[in-house]
Amino acid sequence: MSAPNNPYDPVGVSALEPAAVDAAVQAALVSIAKAADLDQLKSARLEHAGDRSALALANREIGALPPAAKAEAGKRVGDARAVVRAALDQRLVELEAERDARALVEESVDVTLSTGRREAGARHPLTTLMELMGEVFIAMGYEVAEGPEVEAEWMNFDALNVPPDHPARTMQDTFFVGSEDSGVVLRTHTSPIQLRAMLARDLPVYVVAPGKVFRTDELDATHTPVFHQIEGLAIDEGITMADLKGTLEHLATSMFGPGVRIRLRPSYFPFTEPSAELDLQCFVCLGASVGNPDAPCRTCSSEGWIEWGGCGMVNPRVLRAAGIDTDRYSGFAFGMGVERTLMFRHGVTDMRDMVEGDIRFSRAFGWEV
Ligand SMILES: [Zn+2]
Repeated sequence: MSAPNNPYDPVGVSALEPAAVDAAVQAALVSIAKAADLDQLKSARLEHAGDRSALALANREIGALPPAAKAEAGKRVGDARAVVRAALDQRLVELEAERDARALVEESVDVTLSTGRREAGARHPLTTLMELMGEVFIAMGYEVAEGPEVEAEWMNFDALNVPPDHPARTMQDTFFVGSEDSGVVLRTHTSPIQLRAMLARDLPVYVVAPGKVFRTDELDATHTPVFHQIEGLAIDEGITMADLKGTLEHLATSMFGPGVRIRLRPSYFPFTEPSAELDLQCFVCLGASVGNPDAPCRTCSSEGWIEWGGCGMVNPRVLRAAGIDTDRYSGFAFGMGVERTLMFRHGVTDMRDMVEGDIRFSRAFGWEV
C-alpha cells in the first residue's frame, strides 16, 4: 500500500477514532448527568449535541473517508450520537418533572392565611343619600318617621283617598300578601307612614318618611320592583302652597347645588288637592336645549325639565279621616324616588347598577359609613 500523497489522511482522522468517540460520549453523559436544571441541560445539549460538538464534527468527517471505511465509522458515530440524544431526552423528562413538582409546592396558595387586606364594608349609596335627604329636613325641624313595609291595604289605599276600583289596586301593580282579598299588601308608597304620623302625633306635624316600597315592575334600566321613596308631611296652622314650594326649593338646592330651579306643574293625586308634579330644571342643559335642535339634550328630551316627584296640599278628606280640624289646620305633602335622585345627582344611568350589589358601584361613592 502506497503512502497517501496528501498529508491529510482521512483514515487517521483523530475525531473518528473509537477512543475519541467514546471520550466524547463519556464527556457528554457526565455533563448531562450533572445538569441540575433545564438551563444547564440546554447548555449541555449545545456543547455535546450541537452543530459544533465533537460528535457533530466527527460526523462531518465521515464524508471524507474512503468508501470502505465509511460504514464502520458511520455506525460508530451514529450509535454515539444516539446514546447522547437518549441521555439528553431522559434527563429532560426528569428535570421537567422536578420543575413541575417544585412549582406545585412553591406556587401553592394557603387559603387559610390572612391576606392583610380587610376592606371595611360601606353602606349603600341609596342609604346614605336617603339619610342625607332626611338630614335636610331634620335641620328644618322635621322628625324622621317610619312604618311597616307590610301594610294594611286600607292604610295603603283607602285612607289615602284611593278608591277600591282604582287600577293601582290590582295584582297588576301591587304585591298582595296572600290572596288579592287578603287586605294586606307590600306598601306601594311611603304615604301610609304619613297617615300613621297624623294618627299618632300631636299637631303640628312635621315628618319626613324615607323607606322601601314595592311595585310589580320588572327590573330594567329604569324600573325595579323594590325601590325607595322619601316623603314629607307638614300640618300646621296657615300652611300654604308657598311653604311647600319654598321647602322643595331648599331640598333641591341641598341636593343639586345653588342655582338649581324647580317647577310645580298641575297634576292629580288622590292624597292631595291641589296636586302638582315636581320638576327639576335639567341639570345637563339647564334648559338651553329647548327649541334648539342644534344642541339636543338626551337627559330631558330637550324639554328643559325632568320629573322628580309629586306634591300638593293634603286633601282635607284625608285630614278629616285622621281626625284633624280642617278649619284650623292645613298641610302639604311631597314625595320623590330616592333612586331617581341618585341618578340625577351622580349620573347613574342604569337602575340595575343600584341593586346588583357589585362592590365597584358602591366604591365609586367612597367608603362612607
Ligand atoms: Zn336637558
